[in-house]
Amino acid sequence: MKQGKLIVLTAPSGAGKTTIKTNLLDRMDELSFSISATTRSIREGEVDGKDYYFYTPEEFKGKIGENAFVEWEEVYNDQYYGTLRSELDRIWSLGKHAVLDIDVQGALNIKETYPDNSFILFIKPPSLETLKKRLQLRDTESDASIAKRINKAVSELEFADSFDSYIINDDLDLAILEAKDLVSKFIHT
Ligand code: 5GP
Repeated sequence: MKQGKLIVLTAPSGAGKTTIKTNLLDRMDELSFSISATTRSIREGEVDGKDYYFYTPEEFKGKIGENAFVEWEEVYNDQYYGTLRSELDRIWSLGKHAVLDIDVQGALNIKETYPDNSFILFIKPPSLETLKKRLQLRDTESDASIAKRINKAVSELEFADSFDSYIINDDLDLAILEAKDLVSKFIHT
């Protein structure tokens, strides 16, 4: 299978990664979203096979055994997430580049596996305070879950400089333009 490229968006939860991802995918035909597998429960409005492949823990473990993942992580306690090799192959066979929305550790693992054809873009929130407000406004998370995500964000922010590039999501329109510019440069070189 001919390998295309991987564009990895990574950020602490609440940094605005999903909005930036959606905009990139809408504006750039050459890109296609790599749908991850997860064992977390489905949220209102999400669609199985579009937002994620929702697996039971047994199904997920079975896929690990089959070596079906290029990377997987227990992102939160008892919540597993992983990038399926079959997704990358599906996207590359269409002649497109894969866009991954994954956590910081997953992004580091992708860079190790695909050092030459991956571009890791870290999205920084303007501050931890903004991050907390965004998570509260989202209203999908319990207080305990927000606290868990903030704790993880504190350690993830330290990695911002380890990636290929980073943008600060202060002004969303500007962040989208910056992201598009960086991704265009990467896929055309
Ligand atoms: P959420 O539950 O909010 O959809 O996602 C939680 C975190 O898991 C986010 O940081 C998201 O980017 C990350 N994530 C989603 N899919 C994957 C994946 O396939 N692998 C890894 N390592 N992280 C993922």
